Formats: sequence, C-alpha cells, structure tokens
Amino acid sequence: MKPLVAIVGRPNVGKSTFFNRMIGERMAIVEDLPGTTRDRLYGDTDWNGRDFTLIDTGGLEFGNDIPVGQVGLHGQPGDLMNHVMDQVHLAIEEADVIVFLVDARSGITAADEEVAALLRKSNKPVILAANKADNAARRMDAVEFYALGLGEPIVISSIQGSGTGDLLDVIVEALPSREEMEEEDEEGITRIAIVGRPNVGKSSLLNGILGSPRSIVSDVPGTTRDTIDTSLEYEGRQLRIIDTAGIRRRGRVGPGVEKYSVLRSTRAIERCDVAVLLIDASEGLTAQDTHIAGIIQEQNKGVIIVVNKWDLAQEQRRAEREGVYARPDEEIESAEGYREIIGEGLKFLPYAPVIFASAKTGYHVKSILDTALQIADTRYLRIPTSRLNEMLREAVRRFDPSVIRSRPLKLYYGTQTRVNPPTFVFFVNDPQAVHFSYERYLENRLRETFSFKGTAIRMFFRPRTREERR
Ligand code: GDP
Ligand code: GDP
Repeated sequence: MKPLVAIVGRPNVGKSTFFNRMIGERMAIVEDLPGTTRDRLYGDTDWNGRDFTLIDTGGLEFGNDIPVGQVGLHGQPGDLMNHVMDQVHLAIEEADVIVFLVDARSGITAADEEVAALLRKSNKPVILAANKADNAARRMDAVEFYALGLGEPIVISSIQGSGTGDLLDVIVEALPSREEMEEEDEEGITRIAIVGRPNVGKSSLLNGILGSPRSIVSDVPGTTRDTIDTSLEYEGRQLRIIDTAGIRRRGRVGPGVEKYSVLRSTRAIERCDVAVLLIDASEGLTAQDTHIAGIIQEQNKGVIIVVNKWDLAQEQRRAEREGVYARPDEEIESAEGYREIIGEGLKFLPYAPVIFASAKTGYHVKSILDTALQIADTRYLRIPTSRLNEMLREAVRRFDPSVIRSRPLKLYYGTQTRVNPPTFVFFVNDPQAVHFSYERYLENRLRETFSFKGTAIRMFFRPRTREERR
C-alpha cells in the first residue's frame, strides 16, 4: 500500500492543473472512480525514491447521503463550500499528507480561512502551497498566507512548473515511513499462514484443521499461483488458511526445493496476520527454520512455533530409552530441551508461543487454532491514549531515561497509530537519545500492561517539534 497525498482547496485555485502537472510522463494513472467529475483523480508517482498516490479531491462527488449539491443549488457559494469541506473531511480521514492549495492571485479568502481552521484541528501533516505565483511580485505577495496558521507557504506556479520540486521535497519528507505503511487488512478475517520446510507436516496440519467438526470449507480462488487459500469458519470466526504446500503435490520439485519453499513461505507470510511456523520434532531446529522465522520477524507478524511430529519424537525417545533404536549422531530432545533450543536459536522471537503438536494424531491441533485467534485479537487491540500515557508515566517513574545517558531523553507522550501490527509513536525531545535498552524496557512494559501476546509490536520515536509544526 502506498501513502496517499490529497490536494485540497477551494475551486479554481488550480488543484486539477497541479495534479495534471504531477501526473507527468513518469506517472501512471491507477484508477478512475465512478461518480467523479474529472477523468483523472488518482495517480501514482515517486519522488526521491518514495512512491505515493496523489488524489485531486476537487473531482470527488459525494453520494446523496451527504448533503452537497442539492438540485437547483449547484454553483451557489454555500453549496460549493459544503462540497469543499466534505473533500477536506475526507482528506483528513483518508490521506497521510494533505496539500492545501491556495491562490496567490486572489489572496486569502473566507473559504481559505474555513478550510485552514479545519486542517489546523486535524492530526495530519498539512502542507500549504500558494499556487499561481507566476512572477516575482506574486511570490512576494504569497507571504500573506502565513496568516492561515499553517506555517510557511510553499510558493508555486502549476502552469510554469516553478516551485513544484520544492513542494514534492516537503511532501516526501512528511510521508509516513515505509514500515508504518504496512496495510491494515480486511477486518474480521483472520489469515493464518502455515509455513515451514518441505515435509514438516504443513499439509497434514491443514488436513487436521479441516477435519475438525465445526469447520465449513470453501476454496478461495488462488490469490497467487504458489499458495492455496482455504476459508473456514471456526467457533463463529472467519479464518483463511494460507497453505504453501500445494504446489509441491502437483509435481515433486527436484533440487532447489528448499530454497523455493522459502520463497513460497515469504509470500504467504506477507499476506498473513499470524504465521504458524512448523518445525520437525524428529529433526530439530535447522538453519532453514531459522531463516523462515527471521522473515516472520521482519514482517512484524503474529507467530506460533509448532514443534510438529511430537508423536514421532516421543516414540523415538522411548525407543532410545529402551535401547531398541538409537541415532548415534544426535539425541531426540525433550520438550524442555526444545524450549531451550528454540529460546536460543530463535531469540529474536521471544514473544512466540511454542506448541508441541502432532498433525497426524491431532494432538494440540485445536490449541494451535485457538492460540492463533488470540494472537490475531491482540494485533487488533486499540489502547486508548490516556491509558497508554498512564503506563508511560508509570514506566518513566520507575526508570527515568533522563538520568541514564549523557544525552538526556525526555518522553512527552505516546499514541497508538495503527493496529495489525500494533504500532506506537512516542514523542520525545530527541529520537537519537532513545537507547536500545530503553526501547526494550518500554516494549516489555507495553506487553505486560496490555497483554500483547505472540505478536510483534512496532515503536517509533518522533521529535516533538515536528508534531507541533502541524
Ligand atoms: P481547481 O478547480 O482547483 O482544480 O482549478 P483548475 O486546475 O481547474 O484551475 C483553475 C484555473 O486556474 C484554470 O484556468 C487554470 O489554468 C488556472 N491555473 C492553474 N494553475 C495556475 C498557475 O500556476 N498560474 C496561473 N496563472 N493560472 C493557473
Ligand atoms: P509438508 O511438505 O510440510 O506439507 O508435509 P506433509 O504434511 O506432506 O507431511 C510430510 C510427511 O510427514 C508425511 O509422510 C506425513 O504423514 C508426515 N507427518 C506430518 N505430520 C506428522 C506428525 O505429526 N507425526 C508424524 N508421525 N508424521 C507426520
């Protein structure tokens, strides 16, 4: 998902001209929405290596449920102003960055003031741009837009193209970081990816899950060629299982199968809420398992580590004890041994629950599903800002970050910006002063206070001054 940049402003300030200029040869039109008055509303572009989508809100029409454009009133000033305000509301809700365009030729109008008042109250980054500044005199005049209380206007001429590069620089600077842009997905459907090396038991686990009595199954037409999605209802909830085993059954793949399985796992992980990583209990933790676990961690997903074929491992251990069967090279680990090996080998996933299971006998298969659902719920937790800041105050009281470093850290406040994965932004005096150990301390406080289970949590530290600029 790309960040969305909305152009707002009253009619005739040059929104469409500016938009069309930005949609130069490099930019591809992505889609035309029905019910719009202009043919081009959305366009993708990139600047300084960042991709984003630009939207010209001037072309949006709203349905009848929104009282704009009543019959006979088209073109009346009040009517138009409602329309503009609706566009601004929409931009505030939807966009990541808002470009507020004003007309340097006409100076500040009452409509500009009304829009500015609404934008000042929003929590979105707003960039003020004074268009139609075609000559030096107009560029000087544009200074008056300071009065709108949105900072320094960027002076541009959409017709001549002057100043637009500066404007793009400022837009790109205000975009959320790439990590913050990960999509929030269809609510209500929990997507579980079953991943792991070939032969760990992925298909067997899927079959075990589908065999459980309360599931209703339907195949979802493959979203990608390499994975097969299965939808089912489990305890009143919609699940989608992303299985990566499918393709292998169509024809055994020769050399390179392991490498290819990582590729398939990566795609499945990208699309899931919770990844179920299968490890073969009879073989132990391998480098390949660690590799896949690393991808899950990088993608900030929910995760369960399943030590599968536990029946087999138990049998092997019994045989070993009885001296019937022994593997001279390595011994089969106990559950405690496995916990240690996983704790050490996958220490970058300290929050991952470990389940010993058997896809073959059904042992703990239900528990895998139940845990996956709990983790999915955790990922959608929304912590009220007041409770978060209560926690922060308490955390700082216990362990004051300003006394541990030469560069003192002041933690002002925090807010949860996204769910799935839970994402927090903390406003501080100096992000450079946030020591790794303090970050980990805060993460642990978050996990303990709000019971985040089995999922990555993302934390960003922002200088407070930038927030105040908005
Ligand atoms: P919108 O309703 O805000 O989308 O405004 P338009 O893009 O349709 O532009 C309104 C009018 O202003 C058109 O006649 C444009 O040619 C003109 N216009 C747009 N940008 C500039 C500019 O930078 N300089 C001048 N002189 N005219 C401009
Ligand atoms: P995939 O390649 O990851 O999909 O693995 P499969 O589900 O095809 O399983 C590979 C082999 O391991 C098959 O022969 C399964 O019967 C066997 N297997 C899978 N799960 C278990 C288990 O829990 N216990 C035992 N004993 N065998 C299993």
